[in-house]
Amino acid sequence: MTLIVYSDEYLLHDNKNHPENAERLRAIMEYLRKMPFYEKLKFIEPYELDESVIEKVHSKAMIERAKKIGWLDMDTYTNKYSYKVAKLAAGGLVKAAEEILNGNDKNAFALVRPPGHHATSINSMGFCIFNNVAIAANWLTEHGKKVLIFDHDVHHGNGTQDIFYNRNDVLYMSTHLFPHYPGTGKIDEVGYGKGEGYTVNAPLPHDAGEECVEKILNEIMLPIGRQFNPDFILVSAGFDSHYSDPLGGLKIGIDFYGKEINLLKKLQENLICSLEGGYVYDVIARGVAIEISYLAGNPIKFNDHGEGIQCTEIYEALIKKMEQYWEI
Ligand SMILES: [Zn+2]
Repeated sequence: MTLIVYSDEYLLHDNKNHPENAERLRAIMEYLRKMPFYEKLKFIEPYELDESVIEKVHSKAMIERAKKIGWLDMDTYTNKYSYKVAKLAAGGLVKAAEEILNGNDKNAFALVRPPGHHATSINSMGFCIFNNVAIAANWLTEHGKKVLIFDHDVHHGNGTQDIFYNRNDVLYMSTHLFPHYPGTGKIDEVGYGKGEGYTVNAPLPHDAGEECVEKILNEIMLPIGRQFNPDFILVSAGFDSHYSDPLGGLKIGIDFYGKEINLLKKLQENLICSLEGGYVYDVIARGVAIEISYLAGNPIKFNDHGEGIQCTEIYEALIKKMEQYWEI
């Protein structure tokens, strides 16, 4: 069965004047209940991840700062619940990974908040307190697994890249708008030392569409992924890459998210999606629903497509860079 990580406590980290608020998750849950596959989903409650596990990825000073109420940077708020909720978010992903490792289930969607992919090893930032996906990926590597992280948020996952930059047991791939927040994610950011070649960035121009992303996915990222041969895939599922998102600038439609999950699932069935960005309630609700529908083997369609521009230059430049490390 497909696991859904969820807790009402994820709603407690909240600020109504901020785009990353609890309403996002309420909209997703309300929509999911109407889905034909809802009965097939297995909901699991997260646990608060122990600080000792978080410390393997984040500095002690950063963890201490997250306990305070206020702002961790210009964009990242905390209230009196945030520290606990952040531990529950990271714990939700680790719990899903544990369940899948135990062989009970194949895949999961972690409906967690706050998001994680901007949190670096030493700083919370960009709405993110702890890097949920990175913590789970690191936990998996400690259990002898190789992990591919695919990030389809419109923003580059600078935190995830940072955490695994010099490692070859976690392969990070991202399609994102560039230039855009947080400013990282250029083609020549490929990793360092042992990790060289294990970071794959597709910095896309404004208005780049599905055709562009699909070509990069099929001809560069999936072939690299197959050679890496991961034991596990984690997806940083951000829906601000949708054409209607106010924080975005790419032209991805809802159905394309389903297509991406379908392609990744063929590469490795052990797969967990984790909610990252996405600020139009109706879009994140349908985006999550279509990804879960593919995970659950009950695909739905919305006939929502984004028409954008091609990106031949980026495609060619990325091939040229990556063929130094992989057969593509
Ligand atoms: Zn984002």
